[in-house]
Amino acid sequence: MLEAGADLRTIQVLQGWDTDMLCDIDHRLVVAPYLRLAEQKANDHGGVTCVFDFRMAQPNQETILPAVLHSFEHFFLVQMRKSLEGFVLVAPMGCQTGLYLVIAREISLDELMSASAVVLRHMIESHSVPLSTVETCGQAALHDLAGAKAVAQKLLNNIDKFRTVMS
Ligand SMILES: [Zn+2]
Repeated sequence: MLEAGADLRTIQVLQGWDTDMLCDIDHRLVVAPYLRLAEQKANDHGGVTCVFDFRMAQPNQETILPAVLHSFEHFFLVQMRKSLEGFVLVAPMGCQTGLYLVIAREISLDELMSASAVVLRHMIESHSVPLSTVETCGQAALHDLAGAKAVAQKLLNNIDKFRTVMS
């Protein structure tokens, strides 16, 4: 059973996460792309819910176009819902530089990296954005499959960088 505080932090270190990067960080010092354990909340039943940043673009220097980010959100939602145990939610960052991922368990950096790579590879091979019809999306016109594929390929080319938040 997990306990809040130091024990949970120790577990996350063992899972490959840099717990010095928890909570608020200086956005001038980060180097995109990266995966970051941003928050962790232990519950009374021994479980934990984790919030991750998947930073795709360099803060205050680049942005992901809204249509591209929207398509990313759909691909991550559908694929991770299907294949990643404990997956709760993906949401675009308001600053348009990445996605938040919420997972209701501990997950190692390696496992989240490979789950993300599976989604990115799937995107590159896809011929349509999932759930992008007027029946299934609130702004079906705001998608960009070609743009999303280009960003996905760029991220895959830099996947070794996902491990490091700051240089
Ligand atoms: Zn949508």
